[in-house]
Amino acid sequence: MGAGVANGDGPLDVIIVGAGISGIGMAAHMQAMCPDQRYLVLDRRERIGGTWDLFRYPGVRSDSDMHTLGFVFEPWRHEKSIADGPSILEYLDRIADERGIRPHIRFGTQVIAGNWDSSAGLWRLEVDTPEGPRTLETRFVYLGSGYYDYDDPYDAQIPGKADFAGQIVHPQFWPDNLDYTGKTVVVIGSGATAVTVVPAMAAKAAHVTMLQRTPTWMASRPARDGIANFLRRVLPEKLAYRLTRYKNITMQSLVFHRARTRPDKVKAFLTKQTQSMLGDHYSATDFTPPYDPWDQRLCLIPDGDLFAAIRAGKANVVTDHIDRIDATGIQLTSGRHLDADVIVTATGLTMTMAGKIAFSLDGVPIDWSQHYYYKACMFSNVPNLAAVFGYLNASWTLRADIISDYVCRLINLMAERNLAVATPVLPADHDLVEDDPFDFSSGYIARARHLLPKNASDMRWRLNQDYVRDRAWMKNDPIDDGVLRLDPAPAALPQEVLEAAE
Ligand SMILES: Cc1cc2nc3c(=O)[nH]c(=O)nc-3n(C[C@H](O)[C@H](O)[C@H](O)COP(=O)(O)OP(=O)(O)OC[C@H]3O[C@@H](n4cnc5c(N)ncnc54)[C@H](O)[C@@H]3O)c2cc1C
Repeated sequence: MGAGVANGDGPLDVIIVGAGISGIGMAAHMQAMCPDQRYLVLDRRERIGGTWDLFRYPGVRSDSDMHTLGFVFEPWRHEKSIADGPSILEYLDRIADERGIRPHIRFGTQVIAGNWDSSAGLWRLEVDTPEGPRTLETRFVYLGSGYYDYDDPYDAQIPGKADFAGQIVHPQFWPDNLDYTGKTVVVIGSGATAVTVVPAMAAKAAHVTMLQRTPTWMASRPARDGIANFLRRVLPEKLAYRLTRYKNITMQSLVFHRARTRPDKVKAFLTKQTQSMLGDHYSATDFTPPYDPWDQRLCLIPDGDLFAAIRAGKANVVTDHIDRIDATGIQLTSGRHLDADVIVTATGLTMTMAGKIAFSLDGVPIDWSQHYYYKACMFSNVPNLAAVFGYLNASWTLRADIISDYVCRLINLMAERNLAVATPVLPADHDLVEDDPFDFSSGYIARARHLLPKNASDMRWRLNQDYVRDRAWMKNDPIDDGVLRLDPAPAALPQEVLEAAE
């Protein structure tokens, strides 16, 4: 049986914002765990997939394995564990169709604003739909709206763009008809996107240079997981998937902890691997970052594809600073000039909170940076709202799965006890000790830190970054924990919110 499709009569039980991995994952949990709840999934785009629909640059692929970027409830069946964008979309589409989710989705529907009306115990969402603006009422909001700005990627403010005679492309808005066959390409950046696009473009371009200001730690591993494929051949599909997930989660956790406790050992291992893959093409300047592995996300090089392109003379890496773009390419501060027909600015994302929706509580705007995370998905003194922010040191979906399960259990408990409002109440005179589970130096996080909710050392009030511990904790810690205020009827907002409004 599936959850009820909203028919427009009265408030909905849940509105899920976003039809990407997080939104589809929550919808699948609703279908399985909350069959009587009326919900809709709203997405401003025209199809399922979010990130995997938006990004269409050559070679677009996951940089974590699909046995953990896949959902706990749906085995990943492809041979390749490091998957391309289209096969991730196919996986999400199949889940939406097989589980009866698609009739709940409203595409081309952007949530602009949301106000909690405490006297009615409801969220009112202002929504742009293909038929014009609408107001939708819902008891609970679930944000699967991702973590970055779909309209404005990070602008690295490189001077001289207007002077360039060739084409400048941003990976977030890849033109359908870009033909770079036989052309000279410079890709600016050194993150996951740059290391993906460089070998993919090198297959057709005359030559591709990856121009970086700072090197990134890279690790090569096979795109096909031999153990996973063997297990799938000899065991029932679901068991094989569970074992592969267990293996990958354990390995990821071990590597991360090793990088944090013995960075010297991990640096030596990665350096040796890169040296052996590049041979004479290795240069310490281009492959030795000034930070420790996992201070920023490790860049995955599937089957050593970037290193193979460099060895074949089709690609190279330059570490330098940009002075300006000119008519024929890029002038570097060292005096060197890189000629280019096409420049790809893989300079990163702009992080945003809550899908850029202007949220308020009884008309008072919410400033997320003044709220603490609660149970890694709700926020101090904000009723009936949860959001997904995946792991930085593991696959995003591991967190999305835990949170969907938690929120569905919360919704069921509220239905069983006839409760209207769930608010994680944090008094103004709390004694929480602020902490930073995001001790990552990645540029996109550093740039957005002032917007992000607060974290404390107390497990309840943080977005913890340890999947194995978090999964057990979220399952075992009671929902009715004495902190989450559960009201049977619409209730006044916590005193702290009222005081902030005065
Ligand atoms: C190129 C790239 C590669 C990545 N690779 C990996 C990886 O290998 N492993 C990993 O763990 N993570 C990876 N990530 C992070 C990745 O974004 C997540 O894994 C995951 O796809 C996020 O899913 P999501 O559903 O939370 O958000 P998104 O995929 O961003 O989807 C959000 C959806 O919400 C919609 N939306 C947003 N705001 C509104 C609004 N106001 N109204 C209506 N709709 C709205 C958007 O249109 C979108 O469809 C990658 C990110 C990028 C950019």
